[in-house]
Amino acid sequence: MSVAWWARSVASGTVNWVNSWLGRGLPGYCAFCLSPEPLESGWCRECFNELPWNRHACVQCKEPLGRHTSNLSPNLSNERCGHCLVSPPAFKVTTAELLYEGPVIELIYDFKFNGSPRAGALLVELMLANTPAHLGSALLPVPMFQARAKKRGFNQASWLASQLSKRLNVPVVSARCTKQLPSQRSLNRRQRMVNMVGAFQVVGPLPHHVTIIDDVVTTGATGHALAQAALDAGAMHVDIWAVARTPLDRN
Ligand SMILES: [Zn+2]
Ligand SMILES: [Zn+2]
Repeated sequence: MSVAWWARSVASGTVNWVNSWLGRGLPGYCAFCLSPEPLESGWCRECFNELPWNRHACVQCKEPLGRHTSNLSPNLSNERCGHCLVSPPAFKVTTAELLYEGPVIELIYDFKFNGSPRAGALLVELMLANTPAHLGSALLPVPMFQARAKKRGFNQASWLASQLSKRLNVPVVSARCTKQLPSQRSLNRRQRMVNMVGAFQVVGPLPHHVTIIDDVVTTGATGHALAQAALDAGAMHVDIWAVARTPLDRN
């Protein structure tokens, strides 16, 4: 299904039909290995266990803290990375339980750039399989600069937030991206932070605790800028909930 087709469907009011189709995915088969006995969420137990889990990570920004550490002791569950210790971001906790690699890259690419409904539905299920311990009273999707959203046909974070909102009965609040941001890929962490200053404007009022929704967290620069905008708009506590975090070597 093309993004353009999807965007037209949404625009022409057939969104409910699309959403009911999205919810079904490919019933009866594991989404990853196509074995015929998946769990209710759409995958089999083995594939779920073998996904690239982000098990040992900074509690605040979810930056992986070392890939080969096993048997993590419970007292490390509050561990923070050097960046968060030295210069804490405006958000408190990040939930991004998968690493952006392997099948997760494929799913997110298929969702974002091919507008695949099956991939979108699976990403929602993967997020729901790792719901934050303390969810905010409102979901705040990372906004996209309008011209960019128009070009892509949809904003993936808004779509994820709207699906999670329906499933969890939590309202969505919105923000505007007021700056056309150059690609962040070639920039280092500091350049990204500088680049993002003043990029977002939150449309209030906001509840005390807000959860930002995104697909992938890279350095946390976007989350920091949006969290700061949410704090400026009256929120007192901001967290992030995303599908995945980029591994260290891809930051
Ligand atoms: Zn499987
Ligand atoms: Zn951190």
